[in-house]
Amino acid sequence: MNDPHPLPPPLLHHWDWQAQAECRGMDPAIFFPSTEAPPTGRTAPTGPAKAVCQRCPVVAACLDHALQAREPYGVWGGRTEAERAELLGLESLRYPALRSRPPRRSAAGRREAWRAAMISRRTDDGPGRHG
Ligand code: SF4
Repeated sequence: MNDPHPLPPPLLHHWDWQAQAECRGMDPAIFFPSTEAPPTGRTAPTGPAKAVCQRCPVVAACLDHALQAREPYGVWGGRTEAERAELLGLESLRYPALRSRPPRRSAAGRREAWRAAMISRRTDDGPGRHG
């Protein structure tokens, strides 16, 4: 007789590669270096993380996961976020929708923009209703 409510298959196989990860138990800060540019203007060092990934037996599974999940931060599978974005043909993995938005204005900036628009409108329309 068929089971009308079959149990879902085990999900462990999706994650069991992590049990073999070389980075297990390491400080996560190695893989997520600060993205703030240091005062010298150099980018955060990713070399230590990449060195760990180079000897990791599950580097391919890790990179596959990061590309599928579009992990926006850190070193995964031996690749930085910029390198993963390039593999995916994207400019950036970080909130790409925000790139096209204009910068947010302060209240004073909004008032100034409104004033400029009003002045421009008066100039474009010629003399006003009373002038
Ligand atoms: S490839 Fe790197 S980040 Fe991925 S599991 Fe291995 S050591 Fe960790």
